[in-house]
Amino acid sequence: MTSASLENRASALNSQLESLDLSGRLALVAALDGKSVFTTSLGIEDQVITAAIGTGKFGIDVSTLETGRLFNETVALIDKTEETYGILIKRFYPEQDDIDAYAAKYGMNGFYDSVEARHACCGARKVKPLARALEGASFWITGLRRGQSGNRADTPFAEADLDRGLIKINPLADWDIETIRAHVAAEAIPVNPLHARGYPSIGCEPCTRAIKPGEPERAGRWWWENDEKRECGLHVAEAVASTIPQASPISSSPLSSSIAR
Ligand code: SF4
Repeated sequence: MTSASLENRASALNSQLESLDLSGRLALVAALDGKSVFTTSLGIEDQVITAAIGTGKFGIDVSTLETGRLFNETVALIDKTEETYGILIKRFYPEQDDIDAYAAKYGMNGFYDSVEARHACCGARKVKPLARALEGASFWITGLRRGQSGNRADTPFAEADLDRGLIKINPLADWDIETIRAHVAAEAIPVNPLHARGYPSIGCEPCTRAIKPGEPERAGRWWWENDEKRECGLHVAEAVASTIPQASPISSSPLSSSIAR
């Protein structure tokens, strides 16, 4: 599919998805021709999507990036969620060669020292595993929401990811955090206990802190960096490939465009 046709298709899907509820949005995507993959960070909005996929039996693949630096609470939630909904959450791990190359160049916790080193770690532990998780996918479902941060304020329901050659679907783009919390309570959806301890956005343990009252939802992510648009690169267009020690190149892609959640 050409870039123009991918963008046209995403634009049409965006209009179709807008008027539907969450189940309707997922059902629509699941019925499309092409593989759909939902990547979950086990965050509260991602749990809403996983619960909908599990209860609706939509046949959408659910995957997660097991970076090796997750909170114990997050790892435990993967198992609990599988049991609750009778689904398989595929774990995608970093390559040991990449981790060794990173540690040799930057030190295992070198991500605190520079943005380049942080991007390189996210590249090895997240971006490259994501590329494997999305192999063969036509549609990538995410839990991105407009209310998560200023640079996500314009998140559409569907958008072309030209570098990956797929369409990204954001079925909770218009849900605010209060709606998410109310839905989780009403449906008894299991969530990470860290949310109740001041962590609205949860990533790797060494790179996530609790936020203070009034801070933006993602203020606790890479808090030592000054860039207000900081992301780990899965969802932003930034050149990070060059920062990743090349222990094993990505075969199919797309790193040049982006590092998740
Ligand atoms: S969030 Fe931190 S520990 Fe996790 S991959 Fe990125 S830099 Fe590495």
